[in-house]
Amino acid sequence: MFGPLIAKPGSSQHNKTGSWRIKSRPKFLKKECIGCKLCILVCPESCITGSDKDTINCDLDYCKGCGLCVKICPKKDIIMEEER
Ligand code: SF4
Ligand code: SF4
Repeated sequence: MFGPLIAKPGSSQHNKTGSWRIKSRPKFLKKECIGCKLCILVCPESCITGSDKDTINCDLDYCKGCGLCVKICPKKDIIMEEER
């Protein structure tokens, strides 16, 4: 029995998983961030970029709203806000 097959390698960049979000999205408050990059490491979509509180952000085209970045942030500098 075969599982799901990925016919074209590297196709994930074309699959904008942002449409998977149903009710909330992360908001980077950019106040207490210490640039630890734990949120970048934990994000299953690898859609968070940046290196300090001024630049840290995520690409909502790919963020699926799992909330892991919010859970891992040691400074509580990311919150989930209602999808508009
Ligand atoms: S909510 Fe999930 S997918 Fe979105 S940026 Fe945070 S860790 Fe990544
Ligand atoms: S986990 Fe929090 S403190 Fe660390 S880089 Fe991300 S936003 Fe900044």
